[in-house]
Amino acid sequence: MQGEEILGKIIATSGDEFYTPMPKDYKPGKTKYVVVTGSVISGIGKGTISSTLCKLLQDRGLEVEPIKLEAYLNVDAGTLNPFRHGEVFVLDDGTETDLDLGTYERMLDKNLGKDNFVTSGRIYANIIEKERAGKYLGRDVQFIPHVTGEIKKVLRDLAVKTKADAIVIEIGGTVGDYENMFALEALRELHYEEGHGNVCFINITYILQPKTLGEQKSKAAQLGIKRMIELGIQPDIIVCRSESKLHDSIRKKISLNVNVPLENVFGVNDVSNIYSLPLALRKTGFDEAVLDVVGLNKRFKTNGNKVIREWNKKTSVHGKAQPLAVAIAGKYTGCADTYISILKALEHCSFKLNRKVKVKWVDTTELEARDVKKALSDVDGVIIPGGFGIRGIEGKVAVAKYCRENDIPYLGLCLGFQVALIEIARDKLGLKEANSTEFEPKTPHPVIDILPEQKKIEGLGGNMRLGGKDVELKPGTIAAKIHDNEKTIRRRFRHRFECNPEYIEQFEKAGVVFSGKAPGQPIMQVLELPKHCFFMASQFHPEFTSRPLHPDELFLEFARACEKK
Ligand code: GLN
Repeated sequence: MQGEEILGKIIATSGDEFYTPMPKDYKPGKTKYVVVTGSVISGIGKGTISSTLCKLLQDRGLEVEPIKLEAYLNVDAGTLNPFRHGEVFVLDDGTETDLDLGTYERMLDKNLGKDNFVTSGRIYANIIEKERAGKYLGRDVQFIPHVTGEIKKVLRDLAVKTKADAIVIEIGGTVGDYENMFALEALRELHYEEGHGNVCFINITYILQPKTLGEQKSKAAQLGIKRMIELGIQPDIIVCRSESKLHDSIRKKISLNVNVPLENVFGVNDVSNIYSLPLALRKTGFDEAVLDVVGLNKRFKTNGNKVIREWNKKTSVHGKAQPLAVAIAGKYTGCADTYISILKALEHCSFKLNRKVKVKWVDTTELEARDVKKALSDVDGVIIPGGFGIRGIEGKVAVAKYCRENDIPYLGLCLGFQVALIEIARDKLGLKEANSTEFEPKTPHPVIDILPEQKKIEGLGGNMRLGGKDVELKPGTIAAKIHDNEKTIRRRFRHRFECNPEYIEQFEKAGVVFSGKAPGQPIMQVLELPKHCFFMASQFHPEFTSRPLHPDELFLEFARACEKK
């Protein structure tokens, strides 16, 4: 660490109070930083607004790179309970992130990687690793400058690696949380070091409107933003989220109380379709204001709003759209965020087909076979999503059986693929006790079994078969046809179990077509029942790569089959 990593304008050794590790070839001022923080409450769409900003900057021709700094101590999101935290989103490089990364990928239509998602746990792990390697020799390792230094390093590394014009940094949580305090301190330092005009601070706040008063109140927002100022950070731009349209008097109060010029206080009220935000925010001058702060406005003019207008048009359902009723049969049905990418993938189909998708949640935990018919009586098709653990499995098997026998469109995703095979094994192969060794380790018929490479792995963090992998499609199958007869597609995985290769032949004899498999390995990845109106399942998660203007092919074909019902 002494010297070699420390270039740029601040020269320091690890013993120095100015300790700031700089990546090689770092050019201060080349990449601008836009920091997005939240105040008052979480869950007000910080990720949505940040990703919208990224989209608007991208639309002007900027190379923009988002990064989410998560406050929790898990090294990644892989071990988080989806019921508490929402879906675990998997990136192409196998990083397990929180659902915001999905929002960025969909907005920007771009694959992100491990450098775009950094938790406090990751930061600490880096530091402990360096400490054990003796890189801080002689120094006590401290929050300031070492933890803050590590955060700045992560950001500057991203700048060097991507040569981005702007990095948009979303800070998880709200200002004032203990957990993200040092991240804010690191960004205060970053601003100090990079200099004026190179860093823009945005605070997204919430304007309360208590029912009993019926009017908007700005005090909580003022206090929240002042918390940021107390930490030595003067925000440049405020976005006020509110239920109804922001009142001018509130904008003025905010402006005066937190030192932000009136023209830099923006209002965003609740919208039903987040895809309308880019155009709506462009019209307010929001992205222009951001570029003004970091001195980029002249270099990156809009070329009219043609592209985002087009995007707006293509990402809405208009006229008298017919409904499409889809059941999602899983165990986390109480928390829609658990299946957010599935909902989004369905939404992408709804744009293409001009249908209103209505989702019915079917909790399989207590679902008995005799109740399945009733539970599915008002839907056009069924999705069985991914999942772990035995809870709700028998209900899912009953759902798969009902769909197969009654010609109801069925789309199985990862666990939904395995459930379909368990059901077919029990019913068509005569293996009454067929199961996955995940649910019944001693089953006499382990039709789903742990992947050989997974057998030797211990612990549960970051060690599944993860990320983007090639899938070979079998010519002449439905899978090949709907993917434009491509020989190979790339999709994202997150699993430990697979179809046991010993049973492949029996399944095929019973009419199952394995239309996708791993190149050079007997890992089955897509199955279809050609005689059925639509019965397909994938070992991968097609929902992770579905994009607003390019719905995933399996989802789209499923939605078309539902349409015909
Ligand atoms: N539990 C199954 C496995 O590990 C399915 C995983 C999933 O649905 N993501 O293989």
